[in-house]
Amino acid sequence: MAGKRLQSIRGIHDGLPAEVLVWRHIEEVARKVFATYAFSEVRLPILEPTELFVRSIGEITDIVSKEMYAFTDQGGDNICLRPEGTAGAVRAYLQGGLTRAGTQRWFYIGPMFRRERPQKGRLRQFQQIGVEIFGANGPLDDAEVLAMAHSFLSELGISELNLEINSLGCPACRPAYRDALISYLNKCTDNLCETCNERIAKNPMRVLDCKVETCQAELQDAPEMIHHLCKACETHFSGLQDGLKALNVPYRINARIVRGLDYYNRTAFEIISDQLGAQGTVLAGGRYDSLIDELGGPPTAAIGFAAGLERLAMLLGGIKVAAVDVAVVALGEQVIPYSLQQSALLRQQDLSVVHCGGGSAKRQFKIADREGARFVVVIGEDEMLSGLVTLKNMATGEQQQLAFDQLVNIIKG
Ligand code: ATP
Ligand code: MG
Repeated sequence: MAGKRLQSIRGIHDGLPAEVLVWRHIEEVARKVFATYAFSEVRLPILEPTELFVRSIGEITDIVSKEMYAFTDQGGDNICLRPEGTAGAVRAYLQGGLTRAGTQRWFYIGPMFRRERPQKGRLRQFQQIGVEIFGANGPLDDAEVLAMAHSFLSELGISELNLEINSLGCPACRPAYRDALISYLNKCTDNLCETCNERIAKNPMRVLDCKVETCQAELQDAPEMIHHLCKACETHFSGLQDGLKALNVPYRINARIVRGLDYYNRTAFEIISDQLGAQGTVLAGGRYDSLIDELGGPPTAAIGFAAGLERLAMLLGGIKVAAVDVAVVALGEQVIPYSLQQSALLRQQDLSVVHCGGGSAKRQFKIADREGARFVVVIGEDEMLSGLVTLKNMATGEQQQLAFDQLVNIIKG
């Protein structure tokens, strides 16, 4: 009797070959663009102490209060699967003793875990391409990070994206604004959704980014942080905009961008596509000047962003890549060893090769077809004796007899 088939956990998907091709393409573009801005890759743990996220992201955020995969391990330690990359990056920066090593520009690619309600573009295990700069003092760092995000997405060929920026102020100017916002919100509690009402006291700025339409209508005249910035924050925000203009990066100001995590200050931004509905944010980030200090390091200004790999892949759709260059068809038992050797030689030329395993010509051509091979190399006894092979171009049907060197040149085209 056949066993029952097991399924993956809800909201956790497999990366099958066609999808991974797209992911790899995105990753390659990221690596290439980030290298031109002198960023280095880091590979950080997936398991971290739960306390790291409670202290950095903040207890009242959705992520920490209800979305973390946190548990006690066999030794009684509280650990969790990382829901995001910034906190772990800061921990590693401090633990690695890099605070005196000059500005650190890091990027990472890897899975994150949040127990959200699964939807299209919203998974429980998803991948982020993240970037952090530790020691990013001025607004030009913000402008350059945004320019880098912009060239990454442009290079991918994703158009119709909007970069939206905001300033969240700082501990000097935010409290007064927060009070003004709370009194505004308290006047319209009847028309705000339940979640918004809960947030007024705990995290009033989060109300601004509520997705409910009736709430948004109610918020039309809500006070905006950008009109309550202190001098230093205002200078920073205009410096960022001057930088973006100099770099020709299109943007618009959106006073509703607040970010769900506690540690952000000043610059916050999102890059949004109108093609993904409520899951339209493909890249998001901001400045977090107090986080390194809060996690026990010296005061160090920092900025970062993360892009959702699966959401980017949804925008790109399928990429047609012929994965197999050559299928090798061997006609007759006696040529098998020779055909294996020829396959090895082709692979030494960095070609991707599938040996069709011998047997009837019909069976082997069927395999070549299914593999989507661009070329078929046919090897029979004549070919083995003459040292020539027959090459068939599968797109045109054209066949020719060739020596090995010529063969490689044609396939590499
Ligand atoms: P959203 O508003 O869509 O919930 P977020 O503000 O929670 O996003 P961040 O924590 O800033 O997102 O993460 C950065 C990026 O990671 C997002 O812009 C998105 O592309 C991606 N991302 C976040 N959560 C998920 C998820 N559950 N599934 C897939 N991608 C995600
Ligand atoms: Mg979220």
